[in-house]
Amino acid sequence: MSHRHFCDSAGHWWECDGTALRRGDTEPSVCLCRGCRLPLEDGDHARCKNRVELVTCPEHREEECRRTGEAKQEYDRRAAEFGFDEKWARMKALPDGPEKHALAEEIVEWLFGDGDKRKAGA
Ligand SMILES: [Zn+2]
Ligand SMILES: [Zn+2]
Ligand SMILES: [Zn+2]
Repeated sequence: MSHRHFCDSAGHWWECDGTALRRGDTEPSVCLCRGCRLPLEDGDHARCKNRVELVTCPEHREEECRRTGEAKQEYDRRAAEFGFDEKWARMKALPDGPEKHALAEEIVEWLFGDGDKRKAGA
């Protein structure tokens, strides 16, 4: 007997065959009934107070992984361009003072991406 989850990534129902990969996990885990705490695939849970669990379906999970993977790559590329690691290390090594503050500001601006906007407005 399969059970259903609600995919929180795209908002649809999907059939689950007993195990699902939950956000933050690297391995799929057995779906447990929220009413009786037994595996959903064992026994009959028709009478359990089984609230539906939100789990991203396998299809959208792959998409989501790819998206976060791409975002990470893009971030790494920009960080290398900016020289983030060196700047960060230098900033941390500097004693408190204007130089440290300027560097910290530069890093913060880069992180939050509003450096260009500010320049355009000046
Ligand atoms: Zn499941
Ligand atoms: Zn149950
Ligand atoms: Zn989905």
